Amino acid sequence: MSQVYVTRRYRFCAAHRLHTDQLSPEENWAVFGKCNNPNGHGHNYVVLVTVKSGGREEACDLSRLDELVNERIIERFDHRDLNSDPALAGLTTTGENIVKLIWDILEPQLPMRRLHKVGVIETRDNYFEYGGVA
Ligand SMILES: [Zn+2]
Repeated sequence: MSQVYVTRRYRFCAAHRLHTDQLSPEENWAVFGKCNNPNGHGHNYVVLVTVKSGGREEACDLSRLDELVNERIIERFDHRDLNSDPALAGLTTTGENIVKLIWDILEPQLPMRRLHKVGVIETRDNYFEYGGVA
């Protein structure tokens, strides 16, 4: 059985600050550098959602996927401060935590383990990828 995967690309712009209350201000600065700036900073995030192709009716399915991602991810995060998102409370808003949160939001909405992988491009050089727990 061969399996084809299809990836859709989405975008949102958001602010965040890399910081953890478990470290002192000096330690935060040492670990996160300018990303620890108290005023925060922004990124133009790109989200890549890869699902198992359903075959012939894929065009239909992709518009459902677009609706799902727009409702659950883009409307939630676009032009927001990620540090204020309740699901990220107590976590550092790293790409690792953001990509896992997006997976955790989308995965239950896609039947039959259809979600294959989520990718988040944070900067020109930073890409995070998550495929759930093996
Ligand atoms: Zn950043």
